[in-house]
Amino acid sequence: MQRITIAGLGIIGSAWAQNLHADGLTVRGWNRTPKAFPFYEPDLAKAVADAEMIIIVVADPPAVESVLNVIVPHLRPGQLVAQSSTISAHWTKLFAQRVEATGAEFLEAPFTGSKPAAEARKTVFYLGGPVELVEKARPVLERLSSTRLHIGAIGTASSLKLAMNLNLALMSEALCESLTLTRAEGIPDEKFFDALHLNAGRSGFSDLKEAKFRAKDYAPQFSLKHMNKDLRLTLETAGGLDLPTAKALKSFYDKGMNAGLADDDFTGMIRLLDDFKEIRK
Ligand code: NAP
Repeated sequence: MQRITIAGLGIIGSAWAQNLHADGLTVRGWNRTPKAFPFYEPDLAKAVADAEMIIIVVADPPAVESVLNVIVPHLRPGQLVAQSSTISAHWTKLFAQRVEATGAEFLEAPFTGSKPAAEARKTVFYLGGPVELVEKARPVLERLSSTRLHIGAIGTASSLKLAMNLNLALMSEALCESLTLTRAEGIPDEKFFDALHLNAGRSGFSDLKEAKFRAKDYAPQFSLKHMNKDLRLTLETAGGLDLPTAKALKSFYDKGMNAGLADDDFTGMIRLLDDFKEIRK
């Protein structure tokens, strides 16, 4: 596949589009808010007209729906839609039906790995759908990722993705609270991380975010508003399951949203703990 359209040029979509473009593929990029991209196409219907593969990577279920409302009348057999925004199994199944009704194919393709991973082609995809579609998408997804895990039928990849993010949100909160405690006790961050490096609590996550925590750098790699959305979708997916800590964390994220931290990295939740007075000034 040579002609690829990316719908959504946010943090991730813009990195993917640039990498595919650098590989010499014919890339069209569309974004709701116009963007200064060399291959930007402001008309979404035109952007998908001759695409072989369309990758949707926008914020949430309503955003995916608004993209589909425009492109579904233009889809046709032979085209493949890969839906990479983090949404739930419920929405994924509804959107798959809409796409498949046109004769086009639908691959569920959420992913992990934030901005640095996307830029370095180290995204990890979780794929849901038939194995033939996973194979069909592989040559393009390989250009963007280090790994592609086929999880199962449509819906399973989104549920797995939400479970992974629940784990990350909880790990992040644990780090925020323990770091806040040592800061309050006058222990330098350097000592905190020296100890963490030698502790079983060290993780890929703490390694990834250490520099940001130490620099109090809250520029988004993965924004707090999207983690908040993922916690909401997780609780919706859980239905009658009791996930008490997830519920408590969602309430805390709501406070983060209300405090104006929506566009921070999700590690910016620490500001509710140690810098709350500062952000309320
Ligand atoms: P982002 O930088 O916030 O970009 C969001 C994109 O969605 C923008 O292109 C935005 O367009 C678009 N959008 C929002 N509402 C829309 C609507 N109603 N209609 C059409 N487009 C709309 O987000 P991101 O970090 O790239 O993440 C994109 C998706 O990947 C999210 O579902 C996120 O949860 C998931 N994800 C992100 C990461 C990460 O680390 N960043 C990792 C894994 C999964 P405008 O520019 O017009 O607002």
